[in-house]
Amino acid sequence: MNRKHFFSAFSGEIYTLNEEYTHHLDCGQLEITNLPKKNCKHCYGRGYTSKATDTGHYNLCKCTLKDASGSFLRNAAERQIEDVRLHTKKEDFNNSEYVL
Ligand SMILES: [Zn+2]
Repeated sequence: MNRKHFFSAFSGEIYTLNEEYTHHLDCGQLEITNLPKKNCKHCYGRGYTSKATDTGHYNLCKCTLKDASGSFLRNAAERQIEDVRLHTKKEDFNNSEYVL
């Protein structure tokens, strides 16, 4: 069975799923090609480098995409953009609440 690794942009967790369970993930679940290395000098094995203060989600370390192909990265970038759009909508909503 084909197992895939994922990173949750919301919690910073890295986990593995069988491919058959990967079709219902939300846009904050980013597929990665490599598990983070304990000796990575950017993430120290956590898989993320920092937390974005504006959107509250974690920034993936590039060591988790070491073996990614060009098409894999394009696909991942599209999912990231969807994620940012969702967060923007949520912020717009919050801002309108402050106005009221
Ligand atoms: Zn790393």
